[in-house]
Amino acid sequence: MVDGHRDDGPCILVADFEVPKYLDRQAKKACARVEGVLRVRVKGLRINVARTREDIERMVGQRLPAPMKAVFLAGQHAILIAQPGNPAEAYVMVAHELTHLLTVEIPGIQDLSIPPWFFEGLAEYVSEQDRFSTQLGRPLLENAARHLASEGRWITFEKTKDLAWWMSGSASQDEMGLIFAQGYSWVKWLAQRHGDKVLGDIHQALTTGKGFPQAIEILTGQSVTQNIESWKIGLK
Ligand SMILES: [Zn+2]
Repeated sequence: MVDGHRDDGPCILVADFEVPKYLDRQAKKACARVEGVLRVRVKGLRINVARTREDIERMVGQRLPAPMKAVFLAGQHAILIAQPGNPAEAYVMVAHELTHLLTVEIPGIQDLSIPPWFFEGLAEYVSEQDRFSTQLGRPLLENAARHLASEGRWITFEKTKDLAWWMSGSASQDEMGLIFAQGYSWVKWLAQRHGDKVLGDIHQALTTGKGFPQAIEILTGQSVTQNIESWKIGLK
């Protein structure tokens, strides 16, 4: 067992095999990134490292849609990642799952009407997917968002249901494409308009019990639907 036994740092790596040397540094960088955007202090995050994504599937008793190889463990202040292939992947996985974890740790999360596309879009934005797409061997999310838009397919506030639906894993491939790519594009657009600060403000508003639609309206002066319409114009 490699276990730091430290409770002062942001995160502790836990693995029963030798993990890549860069992992600790990338995990700390990812924690700092999440802390910076969401303006929260990360303490005592447990990062369990598995050898493969199949090991994760066995541990959580659930199939993971490819290329997913990390999950957050709600209620345990922990995330579970498969051994990364390179430093960029380590950074992106930790930042993405940690963003989710901090979101689901908000009290009363299920009653705050957070749409799945914001939930994923925020995690994709904070983890800087598009910055590392080449190293990750993945297409740019922004391009995928534009491609879907050119086919007339859009995220909506009403149709993509709620987090409980999303976490039950019943979204179709089509819905997943919209949720990840356009969710990312929307969050990025919002951050370009109002600065990254708005994302920390949203997190803060949710933490104080405001619903997502109310938080957006207070912080941007426009409803979610109006914000979606303005974002769409830029994407066309
Ligand atoms: Zn995610």
